[in-house]
Amino acid sequence: MRLRQLCATLALATPLLAGDAGGAPAASALRVEASKVVSNYTFSMLHAHFTLSSGQVARVFSGQTCVGFCFQGTGSLDYVSQLATEATVMKSNIAHNGGVPPAEGKDGLHTGANFQKAMFWFGGREIAPFTGTDGTQMDGTLQSLRARFDSISTSGLTASLSYDSNNRPLPYVQADLDGSTPFIYELDPYHSRFESLYLLSHANMQDTLLKDRFNPVTISQQPVGWDLHQPVLGEYMLRAVALDLTQTAPLQGVLKVKETIQPLGGPLKSIRMNLNRDHWGHDGAGLILHHETVTKVADREGHALPFTQDAGEITIELPAPAAANSKVELAFDIEGDFLVPPTNGNYWQLGTSAWFPQPDLNGQMYTWDATIRVKKPWLAFSCGDTVRRWEDGDYNAVETRSDVPIAFGVMLAGDYSIERETRDGLTVEVATYGSKAQFSKALLDMTFPIIKYYQAFLGPYPYKEFHILEKNEWGYGQAPASIMFITKEAFNQTNGLINQYLAEGVRGRFVHEIAHQWWGCVVKMPSHQEQWITESFAEASASLCLQDWPQGHAKSEYVKLLSHWKSEAAYATDRGTIPTCNYNYNPDDSRENFLVRTGLLYNKGAWLLYCIRKEIGDQEFFTFLKSYQTNFKWKFGSTKDVAGLLSFMTKKDWNPWFEKNYWGTGMPEVKE
Ligand SMILES: [Zn+2]
Repeated sequence: MRLRQLCATLALATPLLAGDAGGAPAASALRVEASKVVSNYTFSMLHAHFTLSSGQVARVFSGQTCVGFCFQGTGSLDYVSQLATEATVMKSNIAHNGGVPPAEGKDGLHTGANFQKAMFWFGGREIAPFTGTDGTQMDGTLQSLRARFDSISTSGLTASLSYDSNNRPLPYVQADLDGSTPFIYELDPYHSRFESLYLLSHANMQDTLLKDRFNPVTISQQPVGWDLHQPVLGEYMLRAVALDLTQTAPLQGVLKVKETIQPLGGPLKSIRMNLNRDHWGHDGAGLILHHETVTKVADREGHALPFTQDAGEITIELPAPAAANSKVELAFDIEGDFLVPPTNGNYWQLGTSAWFPQPDLNGQMYTWDATIRVKKPWLAFSCGDTVRRWEDGDYNAVETRSDVPIAFGVMLAGDYSIERETRDGLTVEVATYGSKAQFSKALLDMTFPIIKYYQAFLGPYPYKEFHILEKNEWGYGQAPASIMFITKEAFNQTNGLINQYLAEGVRGRFVHEIAHQWWGCVVKMPSHQEQWITESFAEASASLCLQDWPQGHAKSEYVKLLSHWKSEAAYATDRGTIPTCNYNYNPDDSRENFLVRTGLLYNKGAWLLYCIRKEIGDQEFFTFLKSYQTNFKWKFGSTKDVAGLLSFMTKKDWNPWFEKNYWGTGMPEVKE
């Protein structure tokens, strides 16, 4: 199951919304065997122990394959988390969303679920026929379970159920547990490599399209066969992406994508990729669901390959298993009404979500070549440097390229006008709605010295161009490769206020977003548990830039930033840990959700780096950041490597300090 967090480097915490139809086999395609009565029937997965106290069970078949069994009666789950870093958020998410209050046991923190109906899906494992007394027919039980759980984004369930069990000791398991509080348990030992427990909270949405949906809340997510401290790579790496997008009508796009994939472990028989089929729009009256549909997948020679697409994934079957480190080339034909402008917006964005087929973060390291055609007078933008802009009949076209590996490939198109300037071989572009030349000029003047400042200790800026793109929304920034999305308040001040405004308001966000070209782009994060590698390190670098800013008032901004980090971190630190900052969810308090996540990810992480700086000294701290960038250039960073570098530099073991303050809820004081 793919319960997708909104990305990462970039977006603010937003409640997860379930996808449209799930990836499970349709209820109509399933066959329920005659049922048998059970009592005190128990079975266990890694950290989950199920008891079916009384009731009846029936195996469920898809074609000739048994895909699991359904249950009706009185059942319970005892689940234990042995992952200390998630204990705090596990307790608070249960307290805020219902469920069995956690209890400390000898082996960890126990919680669970009580249920009256359940569907246990198994992939790669035979289920022996049940024996005993006959029960009653259970078609209705299965149908009601599918009706309840099918709206959850069970992407990838079909792919997981067809997993080849050869040489694989663990099965794939998903349990849909229906009681007063519904839960989903998942054991996914080979794809996500997590064992997870999710509580299904009502999405609390008024819109008719959403009102019956659930919001999956992470209760626990334990690594299977690896250590969270030591991030693992995915089944394969995405090494190259070449896209060609033509907007054929409003909303409508034709997208051709060529990808090069490198399997990492054993031979790959099928390739699972994230791809959001559903794109939400709004027509002013209500939400509208738009679709992005794959019409063909082909191999290098153009031969069509079988594939299945569901709400959040596409799975491609290869004609023969691809060996580790071989190159697999795939071509996707995609079409649909997925170029969705926001309400009243005269632009669309294909942003940091999975809008083209892509692996999880730990498989994203790809070169990029994007060609986009949009109807005049719109202009389009994408990652890397501009190869060319040209006119093609009714279209404005652009091709951009990055020869260094990126993640989070994006596109944006709209009714923009561009201001640009080149200094010392670097071109900065500012793209705005209409003419806002005075703001563009001020932003250009600010950008060049910031990039120059960072280059001095973070290494060369990787591109010839930097693109500052206005977003017609409020209050955030995002920073994919060579790009900064910045919202319209950066451009909406009256003339007389520009200097004051740029001095106090936008500059802090600007220096943070530009730092992402190094923290996030050059050094990448392998997982959401390591997201501080992008956010906290960008924040720490931004503070250095503010401190060294030539005009005096940036220094007061710097001082304010330090006390902001400390107070926000102190608020958030006993509500979770930095690696679990994305789990926190209180349905009644979106402000708290925001404060806890940003308090941990941006403020506490930056505060930890400030404490390190005060302990080792400014000069050593610059050397530390520079060495980290040098050692992990175009690689994934990790907290373990951060601690390793610090230990090497200072001849002191930093691991206990990170255990306490990063993986734990510790809050260190500064050594002045
Ligand atoms: Zn950021």
